[in-house]
Amino acid sequence: MNRKTIVAANWKMNGNLALVKQMSQMLNQVQLADNVDVIVCPSFPYLAALDAEMSSESIHLGAQNVNEHDKGAFTGEVSTDMLKELSVNFVILGHSERRAIYKETSTQVAHKVKQVIEAGLTPVLCIGESEAERTAMQTETVLASQLQPVLDEVGIEVFKEIIIAYEPVWAIGTGKTASPTMAQETHKFIREFLAQSSESVADKVPLLYGGSVNAANSNELFAQPDIDGGLIGGASLKVEEFEIICSTAKGYN
Ligand code: PEP
Repeated sequence: MNRKTIVAANWKMNGNLALVKQMSQMLNQVQLADNVDVIVCPSFPYLAALDAEMSSESIHLGAQNVNEHDKGAFTGEVSTDMLKELSVNFVILGHSERRAIYKETSTQVAHKVKQVIEAGLTPVLCIGESEAERTAMQTETVLASQLQPVLDEVGIEVFKEIIIAYEPVWAIGTGKTASPTMAQETHKFIREFLAQSSESVADKVPLLYGGSVNAANSNELFAQPDIDGGLIGGASLKVEEFEIICSTAKGYN
């Protein structure tokens, strides 16, 4: 199965209008291989500015979070309808920082996935184990426990519309990258887990790796058979480095 390669940028709570300008100038001229898509996820206030600046059909806009309700008394929150008005097509959900700092549970993440799907947007569903969980050999149990509530909420067929980002928590922002072999083994487990419900769906789901991806390691990671690209934090804030990651991504595994 040939899946697209996806390079997604998670700016987290970083960036400013100057970065919006510099990054969009780069993205408007970068040469991407066929079947490579780039998704840029800035903080909410920069979505409109980025949308106004970007002109390439292969570059898409994503948000870093959304509320699971349609609308109402949820001060400080943002709805899927609001994102749609800003030309957003993708939404990162269940990032480990949201799970750890804002105590989002896998059940709440599952509700958000449903909300995003019903709005016609694509979730980028983040899952990953902590260092202690990996050391205790619990990686597969943890990943299954993060995926199962989403499966129960939306069903396996909907996974055709979902991107999964495997992000080992110990590799996020730490400079410690999972080795390509370790990342591949875990991606293979995720695909096999989904294949227990549907092999054809599991074959289609893009699985991104995230955790200290940079211009020096992206090619080897993305070349693994079950790794379909990356979710990139720190390196996505550096225009030249992100350009290398995007421009050297190959279209197929
Ligand atoms: C992330 O926050 O999703 C991430 C992968 O960050 P970094 O690339 O900085 O590890």
